[in-house]
Amino acid sequence: MRSSQSPHHILESVFGYTEFRHNQEEIITHLLSGKDAVVLMPTGGGKSLCYQVPALCLPGVTIVVSPLIALMKDQVDALVLSGVSAAFLNSTQSGGEQSFILGQLRRNELKLLYLAPERLIAEDMQFLRFLQEIKVSLFAIDEAHCISQWGHDFRPEYRGLSQLKDFFPAIPLIALTATADSLTRNDIIQQLHLTQYRVFENSFNRPNIYYYVKPKRGYYEAITEYLSEHAEDSGIIYCLSRAATDKLANDLKADGFLAEAYHAGLDKLVRDERQDKFLKDDIRIMVATIAFGMGINKSNVRFVIHADLPKNMEGYYQETGRAGRDGLHSEAVLFFGAGDVMKLKGFAQVEDNPEQTKILLKKLDQMVQFCETKKCRRKYLLNYFGEDAPDYCGSCDTCLSKPEDLEDCTIIAQKILSAVYRIKQGFGMRYIVDILRGSNSEKIRESHKQLSVYGIGKDKPKEEWLHYVKELVQYGYLQPTDTEFPVLQLTAKSDGVLFKGEKVYLSAPVQVNIVKEPVIYQQHAYEKDLFENLKKLRNRIAHEENVPAYLIFSDSTLLDLATYLPLTADDLPKISGFGAFKIEKYGRPFLEIIQEFCMERGIGTRIEFKQTKKIVKRGPAPKERASDTKRLSYDLYREGKSMLDIATERQLSLNTIESHLSYYIGTGELDIDTMVSPEKQQLIKQAVERFGRMGLRNLKDNLPDNISYGDIKMAIAYFDKERN
Ligand code: ADP
Ligand code: ZN
Repeated sequence: MRSSQSPHHILESVFGYTEFRHNQEEIITHLLSGKDAVVLMPTGGGKSLCYQVPALCLPGVTIVVSPLIALMKDQVDALVLSGVSAAFLNSTQSGGEQSFILGQLRRNELKLLYLAPERLIAEDMQFLRFLQEIKVSLFAIDEAHCISQWGHDFRPEYRGLSQLKDFFPAIPLIALTATADSLTRNDIIQQLHLTQYRVFENSFNRPNIYYYVKPKRGYYEAITEYLSEHAEDSGIIYCLSRAATDKLANDLKADGFLAEAYHAGLDKLVRDERQDKFLKDDIRIMVATIAFGMGINKSNVRFVIHADLPKNMEGYYQETGRAGRDGLHSEAVLFFGAGDVMKLKGFAQVEDNPEQTKILLKKLDQMVQFCETKKCRRKYLLNYFGEDAPDYCGSCDTCLSKPEDLEDCTIIAQKILSAVYRIKQGFGMRYIVDILRGSNSEKIRESHKQLSVYGIGKDKPKEEWLHYVKELVQYGYLQPTDTEFPVLQLTAKSDGVLFKGEKVYLSAPVQVNIVKEPVIYQQHAYEKDLFENLKKLRNRIAHEENVPAYLIFSDSTLLDLATYLPLTADDLPKISGFGAFKIEKYGRPFLEIIQEFCMERGIGTRIEFKQTKKIVKRGPAPKERASDTKRLSYDLYREGKSMLDIATERQLSLNTIESHLSYYIGTGELDIDTMVSPEKQQLIKQAVERFGRMGLRNLKDNLPDNISYGDIKMAIAYFDKERN
């Protein structure tokens, strides 16, 4: 690699990415001008590139200080797979290995060297003196909050790093962390003796992580149900104690799940083996104490479950942050119960240190408030870390159910309750809805078809009526009987509505996708079979090379392949994650599979939809009008971005972007044939004719898997346009 290449060129050719994220570019430029930087970026934000790219631009070696050996190995493996000359030094290596690496350093053959802080400072600064003799271009301190006692993960070994600036005043230094309040941040700056520095802050928001808090009662069943629904995905379940970890892992194994326990009480060999298996997807579910995870760079962790309450928001944020590093939809589920609060209160008592106890109790209390809030959880989380956020995120459980936003639903309630009254309180929920909807089903009694309530609810789809009936049960207007087939009966409260004109407030239905398929499958209109084949190929290569599969290619790269169907090597640079080295090394076998797939099915490439042109940077636009926000998505799409890219860039849900684009299909500005294949259109049309237009879910369930919600929405927009 020549040292004169521009950061952008390196981003593309080595890492295979087309654009910098967040303020990566600004940070890199700052470092290349010889100055120091403190970078606060959420997990998965892309901290590593902030020093890896400059490392490749600069002539000497970049020294990366990182606390955990597992993390180093992973990062070095990833770099080597991209054709970068990198190594790590640590105590697990033999003397021979270590002196080989020292030789490489002397010959300036390494671009990056990873080591633990104690190794850097070891032997009375001998190693620092050695570094003074060779060409060091940059120091990077990862997990920099470990240097501060104010942080939540203080490591005394980090204190030695105070010496760095004294030894190397002229060499730029970058300190990176994913969590640091202002106290910790200032401490980092002070401890590292930084003077000419800039702090780069990024939003802590992780838009692709959905947050849920559920009651702890009956959590084992809830967990197994969740795991069954996510049988294709891998994830972490955090427990408070080692014993709880072992027990839960054993129970899950007994129930047939690919789970293992991980905690500090296990033999190191066992731990390493399990971690390795998890990274390679041989274990799907790691049931762990918080001892697990800091070194885990695995990008396709799809869910993080907290079976027990975390001690504080910092821990919660960090642990949930291990989900979805690849930017794809991921979930954080916390089971909350009062028993845990009592237990943790006990743990928060620090002997002879009332001040520390007070801090810990306050942090616990803030954690409890997060669980109990009726407002947006994402907002709470971001506010906790000092960041502003809108009231509604649309991707946490409270936003998705929005209980506080009740609407006047008196008329709706009157219709439902009258129906119950007319059919003499003798039928179940679905029957009632069928009556309201005027269903022709033979299940409906003829006499009921004569009632005035029969068909008074044709204006709303079935799902909405079901929602409102459930709401009425929830708020005590209807009471299900305790029988095998419960029927709904009126209550004293409903009398008030039927006979005294009392008003009823209920929450409006929200479109919540009930996750049945693994979450990754809901992202794109992509070729599912191909995706599975590509995964197999990737896993085979990973096994051959003995590295975790996601280091070869992330799931999102494979998804891109299965979506855009590149057929030639020239197409590959457009796929996110394909750098020059990886194209050279792995391009062919992947292309062959795609070619074969396309040939068999007689379909062509879709790479033309993936032309990523440089986007003119737009400022944040919180005051956008609805029409502008649609237009912005549309413009980005026209510039060649995928819907997923747009969703990520705009921090909106894929759902929203699909709706935006559907709008332009309705106006005729977007051609339906470029969005949804004619075959799919045909199938959707048939389904609409058969099952009616209401309820996308219903349509989706009755269509082949490769037809996405987005396809359906767009096709419907098109049918509407044609009709008018
Ligand atoms: P962090 O250290 O901040 O938790 P990483 O550096 O591990 O995050 O990056 C998370 C993921 O995002 C990695 O898979 C990385 O390759 C990817 N990534 C980083 N920067 C970019 C970028 N500019 N474009 C696309 N992907 C990126
Ligand atoms: Zn929310």
